[in-house]
Amino acid sequence: AVQLPVALIVAATHASLGIGRAGTLPWRLPTDMALFRLVTSAPGGSSASSQPAVVMGRKSWESIPKKFRPLRNRVNVVLSRTVTDFGPGTHTFSSLSQALSALSPTPPPASTIPPVSSIYIIGGAEIYTEAFKYPATSRIFLTTVYADEEALQCDTFLPDFRSIGEWEQKSTADLRRLLNDMECHEAVQLIPEDGDRIKENGLEYAFTLWEKR
Ligand code: NDP
Repeated sequence: AVQLPVALIVAATHASLGIGRAGTLPWRLPTDMALFRLVTSAPGGSSASSQPAVVMGRKSWESIPKKFRPLRNRVNVVLSRTVTDFGPGTHTFSSLSQALSALSPTPPPASTIPPVSSIYIIGGAEIYTEAFKYPATSRIFLTTVYADEEALQCDTFLPDFRSIGEWEQKSTADLRRLLNDMECHEAVQLIPEDGDRIKENGLEYAFTLWEKR
């Protein structure tokens, strides 16, 4: 059984929920990257001896530049049906359900996985799509990118979770409150108080929070 709530963290275009192009991100958004790092590294109020887990697909792992992986200060979990070992500092599972069952604040003594304080699904589309089906998936940190969708040429998309009525968009104040509760005070500083868009590298984007109804 899944023992911790699961959050998705993702940046996607506003109209079509595009998230990738040719195996990489279609953009470079430094403030979004900073928020990603801060949120997924947040202590979350639990014991300092445990870290958050970041769960990703094999292709997303490969898209991270070698010098940045494994992602620091987080338990790196990589899903693959073909590769069994991604090297030091990683944990590999051949299914999402096995991974989520193994991630716990109090793993059994024989577990090779350290205790984790929280679980973030960090992509890509295959893993997000499967994670949406889990009842434990209760929150989405969504960076909405306002872009000329034609020009961006995304080839990888999130499923359209917004139209099914299961998910509710929270306010910017709710997002800031949540990050404060998570002791993620640095991240709060990155979020414009009035929900204003951030402008970087010719794109505009906004941080949003969604919760399951
Ligand atoms: P994924 O990163 O989801 O990786 C897919 C691979 O993961 C599969 O080929 C398989 O590996 C493994 N896998 C998938 N499902 C399972 C499962 N249930 N159990 C075990 N292994 C599984 O690839 P996508 O192509 O969907 O997404 C990659 C794209 O998404 C890239 O363009 C990337 O840049 C982008 N991205 C965007 C993000 C954003 O926030 N905008 C965030 C993350 C990624 P194998 O073939 O080895 O069996």
